[in-house]
Amino acid sequence: MARLGSWIEPFSEGIYVRPADAWIDPSQPKARALVTHGHADHARGGHEKVWATPETLAIMECRYGPQAGVSVAYREVVRMGEVDVSLVPAGHVLGSAQIVLEHAGERVVVSGDYKRRPDPTCLPFEPVPCDIFITEATFGLPVFRHPATAGEIDRLLQRLHDNPDRCILVGAYALGKAQRLIMELRCRGHHDPIYIHGALQRLCELYAQFGVPLGDLRPATGVAKDELKGRIILAPPGCLNDRWSRRLPDPITAMASGWMRVRQRARQRLVEMPLIVSDHADWDELTRTIQELAPREVWITHGREEALKHWCMTRQIKARELNLVGYEDEDD
Ligand SMILES: [Zn+2]
Ligand SMILES: [Zn+2]
Repeated sequence: MARLGSWIEPFSEGIYVRPADAWIDPSQPKARALVTHGHADHARGGHEKVWATPETLAIMECRYGPQAGVSVAYREVVRMGEVDVSLVPAGHVLGSAQIVLEHAGERVVVSGDYKRRPDPTCLPFEPVPCDIFITEATFGLPVFRHPATAGEIDRLLQRLHDNPDRCILVGAYALGKAQRLIMELRCRGHHDPIYIHGALQRLCELYAQFGVPLGDLRPATGVAKDELKGRIILAPPGCLNDRWSRRLPDPITAMASGWMRVRQRARQRLVEMPLIVSDHADWDELTRTIQELAPREVWITHGREEALKHWCMTRQIKARELNLVGYEDEDD
């Protein structure tokens, strides 16, 4: 009998599904690509044909121009070669999907990036029991335990309230984190205008088009200093300490990322106020998910693979590191 999952072949540039003749999140241009979500390290430009959710395709078009895309709705089953493929919510960013592959009586689930805690900008992760779970492990160390998001947002709002003559400049990645932060603020009752850097504008508009009500957003550029006092301003992390931020009224520098758990990273970026808001599963979410899905094998991709592999082995779950390259852990 063939080895479990022998039809799924991991290469350094991505996962090749042989009977579908398709690649998952390939880091190089391919003829047929299945894309889990819009982050640049998963969704590259230049594929001949892309299968993805409508949201992910729209994000790719926003970044790379028109795509030869096949739009696949969540839970719709498409036949690719000899494989039944479906996309299931991953809870990571708008349109993010796990890829479910069924072939030869085996079910393989590729998580893509995922998280389990609620996110007002996307559908929650849906657990699909499977034979092989191919999981991310960005925060795959027991030290990574993300705090409750509401507490981080309340800390931000308190600081804003205590400093009416200053502004808070929050660094957030343009896709996912920025819109999540805006929605988390809205959910905590903050309905004031939020000012955004020009680099965030198109993706915020795209979220709004897909029905995520981001509220009153205004451009942060070309606004009088006085108008920005007591306001929250969002910009890509690279703009936190550059010339752009110098025209703001005495900004308090914050950054929203799962990596803010690591003090060294906050210090490197001169972040006064680290906000631990992550779009990836933390250690508890990773291990709980494996327990819940009870796969026969776990294959582990980008991140701290050894610790999670060890955790699986001690529980008699067969585990394997895939060593894919080209995935950055910076998208959080
Ligand atoms: Zn991602
Ligand atoms: Zn990733």
